[in-house]
Amino acid sequence: MVRDRIFKELSDPLVVINHRGLLIDANQTAMKMLAIDRASLASRTIAQFMPSWPPEALARTGSASEEVTIGGLIYDVAFSRLDPSSDFSDVVLVFRDVTIRREDERRLRKMQKELERLAPTGSLTGLYNRRIFMQRLEEAVERVRRHGSVLSVLIFDLDFFKSINDTYGHDTGDVVLVAVARVTTDVKRLSDVAARIGGEEFALLLPETDQQGAVQLAQRLRSSIEKRAYLSTSGVPVQVTASIGVAMATKDTQEVEKLLSSADKQLYQAKNNGRNRVCSTML
Ligand code: GH3
Ligand code: MG
Ligand code: MG
Repeated sequence: MVRDRIFKELSDPLVVINHRGLLIDANQTAMKMLAIDRASLASRTIAQFMPSWPPEALARTGSASEEVTIGGLIYDVAFSRLDPSSDFSDVVLVFRDVTIRREDERRLRKMQKELERLAPTGSLTGLYNRRIFMQRLEEAVERVRRHGSVLSVLIFDLDFFKSINDTYGHDTGDVVLVAVARVTTDVKRLSDVAARIGGEEFALLLPETDQQGAVQLAQRLRSSIEKRAYLSTSGVPVQVTASIGVAMATKDTQEVEKLLSSADKQLYQAKNNGRNRVCSTML
């Protein structure tokens, strides 16, 4: 019969089960995949190979699809009831090997991450990333050492950002990050370097700026972030504030890491003092 030939010769694994999941029939490739022979077929249930059996949609719609891993390979399994109207119908399962596709997708995601890491600016905010910021800071601190001038660094972190994500969704969180990046670009001078150095953590490098000037700019930035009108993706106003830590480098500054950790300590202080404020060693 044509049906038998199709069943035998189909290169994709194919299995027929009854409504309780007992194996009734399987083609050669399916028996190979499940590592069983025809004699043991009837004593096995599909649940032994697929912990997720039965798929939730099957009872509702008469068909379903699901991804399973068998013998180290990933299969996309299409389930369909031979009689869609009956809860007691036998079910046909067709397995499609999607291992290579999933591996390609995984490799692609990894490559995208790597590209993102190598790019000088993040794709979300367009600001410099941490790596470029560190390079620019190293260069600037080196100039300060040579010429005996000063520079300042701000590190700022959005307040209760997790609760913004939790309340309005991650997309709204992203919208806020983009808006804060724009506020930062508007407030800073052209020669200042702005970066997003972490998830919701930003930094500003202010060349030729002492502690006092840096604190003034930090206050302006803090107030601009607070005053800016933010909308969630569903149009609801969102309140956003930031805490800012300030540190200054002089010709005696040896390590950039120390300068940053000093700004970071001030940021931590600003958080502890109630958030939405600026802290610096000078104050
Ligand atoms: P605190 O005032 O102490 O800084 O509280 P917080 O909630 O802002 O701090 P916490 O470090 O607990 O949370 C930071 C959150 O930022 C957690 C993380 O999910 C979120 N986040 C990090 N990167 C991104 C991003 O790119 N997009 C969005 N939407 N959220 C992000
Ligand atoms: Mg935060
Ligand atoms: Mg943070």
